[in-house]
Amino acid sequence: MPLVILLCGICLAVAAQNRHLPKATFPNFTRSAGDEANLPGSYGLHLTPGLDRPKNAGAQRYDPGEPDLNMAVVRWESNKMPLLIWISPGLQLPDCPASQLKNTRVDQVTEMLQLKEPFADLKQAIGWTPETNDDVAAGIEQWRQFQGEGLFRFAFTDNPLDANICIFFVDAFREGSEAGGIMLGGNTAATVYPIAQARSIKIKQKPVIIELSTLVNSTPQKMTGAAAHEFGHALGIKAHSPYREDIMYVDRVVDQLSAADKATIRWLYHQTPKYVL
Ligand SMILES: [Zn+2]
Repeated sequence: MPLVILLCGICLAVAAQNRHLPKATFPNFTRSAGDEANLPGSYGLHLTPGLDRPKNAGAQRYDPGEPDLNMAVVRWESNKMPLLIWISPGLQLPDCPASQLKNTRVDQVTEMLQLKEPFADLKQAIGWTPETNDDVAAGIEQWRQFQGEGLFRFAFTDNPLDANICIFFVDAFREGSEAGGIMLGGNTAATVYPIAQARSIKIKQKPVIIELSTLVNSTPQKMTGAAAHEFGHALGIKAHSPYREDIMYVDRVVDQLSAADKATIRWLYHQTPKYVL
């Protein structure tokens, strides 16, 4: 059986009107003279809670393995190249709570693709314009540099039936908001196959589905960064980086691949994967 796996997308802080600050709580403690050990520690102040990479760590890779599969290595095999990417004209898939995207999106789109007019019923996401797709493509193009190194190849297609990766849009993910006003900016859902199964059975593998929020990614720069992050998941970087300076950090704050992102994708495409996309 194929396994349906999803990696959570990027989250970005949004407008202040949506923010509800958590109620502050303070531990009760009694300070006695000379008892410094009882003082609460300070954790410093960061815009996001990610780690600072140790200064001597350089461009060390992080672990891109799939957390739901014991951090197993997942990537595309060379016989799938070039990966074909279809960026929809702003289409929004049927409403679905963010927590259920993992188990529904890939099969839902696969079924739609079997219809005579696959996406005729879909509307355009509010806030999408044709230029949005240029911003998405620019984010994906950040991964082009590895083509010259022979890691993978990709191209854009006008036909979703040919696509390995399909990209849709949503104004805002339903129930995609966490306490504190953090909203989901993107999501990637994929089915992965044990490599032996993928090699032994001629199966038509299901496409990877990326969804991007037009509301959270409301500027070209944000949309480009979001697309670069989600395409990293689509390539097989399943786990998030713990470091804020990487494009694959969960609450992405940068818009460009870091040296560690590059080291990670190079490492990934030199491994024999346990599962393939
Ligand atoms: Zn992510």
